Amino acid sequence: STSNNKFSINLNELIIEKTKTPLPKITDKSKLVFGKQFSDHMIEVPWTAENGWGAPKISGYHNLSIPPSASVFHYALECFEGMKAYKDEKGQIRLFRPMENMKRFENSAKRICLPTFDKEAVVELIKKLVTIDKDWIPEGKGYSLYLRPTLIATQNSLGVGASNSALMFVIASPVGPYYPEGFKPVRLIADDQYVRAWAGGSGAFKLGSNYAPTIFPQIEAAKKGYSQVLWLLNDYVTEVGTMNMFVLWKNNDGELELITPPLHDGTILPGITRDSILSLARQWGEFKVSEKNFTMSELAKAIKEGRVKEAFGAGTAAIVSPIKSISYKGEEYPIPIDESIQCGQLTKRVSDKILAIQYGEVESDWSVVV
Ligand code: PMP
Repeated sequence: STSNNKFSINLNELIIEKTKTPLPKITDKSKLVFGKQFSDHMIEVPWTAENGWGAPKISGYHNLSIPPSASVFHYALECFEGMKAYKDEKGQIRLFRPMENMKRFENSAKRICLPTFDKEAVVELIKKLVTIDKDWIPEGKGYSLYLRPTLIATQNSLGVGASNSALMFVIASPVGPYYPEGFKPVRLIADDQYVRAWAGGSGAFKLGSNYAPTIFPQIEAAKKGYSQVLWLLNDYVTEVGTMNMFVLWKNNDGELELITPPLHDGTILPGITRDSILSLARQWGEFKVSEKNFTMSELAKAIKEGRVKEAFGAGTAAIVSPIKSISYKGEEYPIPIDESIQCGQLTKRVSDKILAIQYGEVESDWSVVV
């Protein structure tokens, strides 16, 4: 059946073509490297301005054939998502807040004039893919199948403008824990030479074009011995690497407060881990939880005064990434780390809680059984 709603994706038209050349499954989990190995199948859904979304297809992982004139190659009309499928103790497959990824995916698409889509239908397609490729989901806590929904503009012409055709695809990559041997707190460099995002820019969207310019500063930081860049904007702390930034401190009023920069000025990527942490911390109700701006100078002063208790990055890849120091204007600012757990108490608690939800050890609406 067809629909005249151009945003709908018809699941009844789904074509499944299983690969005739399945790859050997993962035998040594310890050898998994992020994003290097891909599962046997992928999703594709083509779109044209004229006819809307075409029949979705799940087939063997393969190269794409796209004209060199396609706008994705010239003006970076591309957006993507990062999410994971987990296998719980009973062997059930679970997704973590998948609709949140779909909403962000669609918001990113709109920002670059790519089509909106039936978000529930894409979640259903993802469920199909992870079911077909279930043997590619490595077992064990911390292991998962990383999913990369992507939307690219395929219009066959060089004009800078909205694309009249697009391709959505989803590929999957088995991944191990970010910290296989326990947390490894990171050193950051806060440098104002490079800016990741600015008010009115596109930092709040998951566009490929936001990431390409961050690689050079990241390499420079690594050469100086820092593992991540702490991105500043006019001295305001924004994000850390590709994670949202959290600080637990005693604020100027002497209150214990968990802070992270707010979303309203469009410079911060609205992380699903960020949202989950804010929600959990508010539920716990044990300290103040604030989405508000703070500068690196304020943070440096608070560190000097011993008011900073913990700092961590938050994102799908690691859940949390503890921070042990920040280099700022040539000075090192150390952040306390509980040696026995290689992070702060709250950092550990957040990590444990989210892991327990993702692997279905505790009841939560956030964990969706496939
Ligand atoms: N900030 C940036 C710039 C990111 O790329 C990511 C990863 N998507 C995040 C934050 C964390 O978002 P999430 O918790 O949804 O993974």
